[in-house]
Amino acid sequence: MSNPTDQHANPVVTRFAPSPTGHLHIGGARTALFCAAYARGHGGRFVLRIEDTDQKRSSDAAAAGILDDLAWLGIDWDDGPEHGDRGGDERGVGPFEQSQRREHYDRFFQQLLDAGMVYPAFDTPDELSAMRKAAEAEKKTFIYRQPAGYDHAAALERAKTDEHVLRFKMPPEPVTVNDQILGEVTFPYEELDDLVIRKKDGFPTYHFAVVVDDELMGVTHVVRGQEHLNNTPRHVALMKALGFEVPTFAHLPLIFNPDGSKMSKRDKDKAVRAAVKQAEGVKDALANAGSADEQRHFAKWLKDKTVQLPQERLIAIAAQLSVDLPEIDVEDFRRAGYLSEVVINYIALLGWNPGVKTDEGKDLERFGRAYLDEHFDFGRVGKTASKFDRDKLRAFNFDTIQAMQPAEFVDAWRAWAARYDAGLLDELSGETMLMLAPAVQQRAAVLSECRQPIAFLFADDSSIEYDEKAVKKHVLKGEPTGLDLLGAFRDELDGLADFTPEAIEAVAASFCESRETKLGKLAQPVRVAITGSAVSPPLGVTLAALGKARSLARIDRALTQIPQITPG
Ligand code: GLU
Repeated sequence: MSNPTDQHANPVVTRFAPSPTGHLHIGGARTALFCAAYARGHGGRFVLRIEDTDQKRSSDAAAAGILDDLAWLGIDWDDGPEHGDRGGDERGVGPFEQSQRREHYDRFFQQLLDAGMVYPAFDTPDELSAMRKAAEAEKKTFIYRQPAGYDHAAALERAKTDEHVLRFKMPPEPVTVNDQILGEVTFPYEELDDLVIRKKDGFPTYHFAVVVDDELMGVTHVVRGQEHLNNTPRHVALMKALGFEVPTFAHLPLIFNPDGSKMSKRDKDKAVRAAVKQAEGVKDALANAGSADEQRHFAKWLKDKTVQLPQERLIAIAAQLSVDLPEIDVEDFRRAGYLSEVVINYIALLGWNPGVKTDEGKDLERFGRAYLDEHFDFGRVGKTASKFDRDKLRAFNFDTIQAMQPAEFVDAWRAWAARYDAGLLDELSGETMLMLAPAVQQRAAVLSECRQPIAFLFADDSSIEYDEKAVKKHVLKGEPTGLDLLGAFRDELDGLADFTPEAIEAVAASFCESRETKLGKLAQPVRVAITGSAVSPPLGVTLAALGKARSLARIDRALTQIPQITPG
């Protein structure tokens, strides 16, 4: 259902315009997803633009990381930087990095200068801060206006030599933003300052670049987070001054943590800071690690909440202190081992829902990208903040992993390991992973948890620690004892040429049958010998994955060591 005000003669063009100053935040991914879905669902195009006008904070590495995260999520852009089969400039509206588009901005600066709609301003930072303080003293918000008696001709002359910014002379009238989600929002002139559109270094500000680029790239729908709502009247005023068509706007609700705080990258910092403060023993070691500069920064960070540690350091400390870092960026969710299709499904629900019941009468929540593309519209996007519920995301991921075919699961597991746990691929062949898959799938909610159910494989054969309770219950009791069965079964295993789960299960079954023993009576002591505990994947898989030589070595060790543990 289209809103009647949402009529454009031109085909739909949406855009996602990240600033490459860090990782892609999960909220940014949601914006990109909704932009892509809306374009797909309306036969339009989706543009990706890199907003790198803040030269100091932007980096190529961050831009590349954002493209990679979007590609991982399966968010595909038509026009934009090339990445695999994404991107390109079919319509000739590029380049897509704002730093490469200065001639366009210059052209429109000139247009506004010629029309007398902008003016040079020479205020120093001190002067601006004094004006701000004066406004504060009167309990007013500071609004910059062209000073009374401003001499335009003299200013243009002075601008030839003196450092200055260009400010847009805000027309003295209210601006109404017609938003697809929030409805009409009117901003009085009194709240709209004469904003800076060109910085001292000649670069456009975000406000100006975004307006020019949205026009030149034919953007019909500006979809972005509500944190940008206050910018929008400024953009609308600029668009009108430049004679541009005003696009349709849709401002998406903010994303909050369940405790009501804004979901931000500082959450990671907070978690680590709290843990470090409690970890008295390691605090000194951490404080003395690294270069003198790093040590100084660490000390500052510990005292001052507004100071942040580099991401990599946070991750390292969190690992050292076994602190779970809250996932905030797409990269965090990737590292934890969420599946991209699950992340897509979950973030689609942040502020939007299909409004459809399942056959069981529940809200439809599980759907794929194709469904979203077909059904997404702004009419069902909420106005108020949405809460990020990690438990629900985790449950979605667990259910999806469980439902996967083992081969499909192994593909996902290997792709994850290639990026985050390359050692795993050295330790386990694809075939072994496939063998282990069903057991692992039952126990791992995210891919980073897949090692846990098979941790016995990575232990040293000569350092298995036997769980005392399991030993007493399964190995030392019974008639014959578990240990007796283990000894006899060891020789059967030794004689097996084909050490596959099926062959092992078959030999175990006939072993038990001939002794009129239940399989569990044999399986449990074997598990204790192999893993130290009575919990492991199915017997055949446990032994086959470990291999014959290591299985026999562990059983032999158990046969000699366990009798030294006295039954309780
Ligand atoms: N570069 C802006 C950001 O990353 C984009 C805002 C917009 O979509 O206009 O927040």
